Amino acid sequence: MSETRKFLLTEKDLPNAWFNVKPHLLEQPSPPLHPGTLQPVGPDDLAPLFPMALIMQEVTTDPYVDIPGGVLDILRMWRPTPLVRASNLEKALDTPAKIFFKYEGVSPVGSHKPNTAVPQAYYNKQEGRPRVTTETGAGQWGCSLAMAAAQFGLECDVWMVKVSYGQKPGRRTLMRSFGASVQASPSTSTNAGRAVLAAHPDSPGSLGIAISEAVEAAAVDPNASYCLGSVLDHVLLHQTIVGQEVVKQLEMAGVVPDIMLGCVGGGSNFGGFAFPFIPEKIKRPELRLVACEPAACPTITRGKYAYDFGDLAGLTPLLKTHTLGSQFVPPPVHAGGLRYHGMAPLVSACAEQGLIEAASFQQNECFEAAILFTKTEGILPAPESSHAIRGAVVEALKCKESGESKTIVFNLSGHGYFDTSSYDAYLAGELVDYEYPEEAIDEAMRDLPQV
Ligand SMILES: *Cc1c(COP(=O)(O)O)cnc(C)c1O
Repeated sequence: MSETRKFLLTEKDLPNAWFNVKPHLLEQPSPPLHPGTLQPVGPDDLAPLFPMALIMQEVTTDPYVDIPGGVLDILRMWRPTPLVRASNLEKALDTPAKIFFKYEGVSPVGSHKPNTAVPQAYYNKQEGRPRVTTETGAGQWGCSLAMAAAQFGLECDVWMVKVSYGQKPGRRTLMRSFGASVQASPSTSTNAGRAVLAAHPDSPGSLGIAISEAVEAAAVDPNASYCLGSVLDHVLLHQTIVGQEVVKQLEMAGVVPDIMLGCVGGGSNFGGFAFPFIPEKIKRPELRLVACEPAACPTITRGKYAYDFGDLAGLTPLLKTHTLGSQFVPPPVHAGGLRYHGMAPLVSACAEQGLIEAASFQQNECFEAAILFTKTEGILPAPESSHAIRGAVVEALKCKESGESKTIVFNLSGHGYFDTSSYDAYLAGELVDYEYPEEAIDEAMRDLPQV
């Protein structure tokens, strides 16, 4: 018989606690600061925006946090997700490396994001907040929260970056099918949106602007919470269900990983995939955990580790992260989910402490790897995930050179079946690579808050 291709867990194997990386760090990350006073924010500062259970998860240093049964019941709709040996890709690359991918595209909306949308909706329901607000870029996060809100009967309002609102009608329709209301951002329904429109009536919008709108809407409504799909500690905590499954699946496969890769936008799929391997990394420093980012938005590889705002209007707490400046508008690369100026503070802290490393890739080389993956493994990857594929292909080709048989594992964070227009542009040879936008970043860096 040929080698096993899929490593499948049963619902009984589903982790019943989230893994907290904090107790494993050499030094604790610097705390978030209040945007007005520049003092560390306390639970009371965050209470208007988030349910208390999530605020407590944001600060906990307990090694594990129990997953409520009501959350597991919904996660079981698609979890555990498969770990797959990419044998056909290995053959096409003619590499002695073993390549595995964890497939998060089997969730109802096609990415890892529902792993945190479900608990966020759950705790809002528990604490009697019937409405959630959020922003979305390409639409993955908006769809995830809309799906989770529908499961718990919550009202869901999404501000979608205007260019994507026009370019991604499929995601817009999916959100509305789940019952969410969707507005193009900048909108006329918030002060933040109206201010941008007054200054720039044709603004295409940005994630930073949309965050300002969703935060404002939640702040003025005592029945509403704001939900964020990445970056925050509790979001990465929820995503660790992914890496904990991978720990078990690699044991089933009888292999020990050498290189683990994930793409990074705000850092949540990578953190969730890699953090459960941090204790192993500390014992075995040769294990490499690699965050793959776009060369056009090279947050960890080229950004500065400093306090910065999460949004354009400066409404969010300041977070100590790798940043390209909150005023930086990244070039319009097709991996919309990776176009964020900042990074999860926990991923940044791990990078500073040498526990993870980062690499950057141009979009054409990523789409090339994605097409090879589609032809060999049969799944059209999300443009975001293609960065992890590119990283894995580069490592597999190094193994071919050296003759080493390393074990390479990457996170396929989502499928690309709503992103076919990006593939059209690539296949038509129309995609441009963006050099590191040095001047735009230098300019945005001048506005970093003085802390
Ligand atoms: C949103 C998204 C990302 C980037 O977000 P992270 O928080 O860095 O994971 C990556 N892949 C897919 C498929 C996404 O939808």
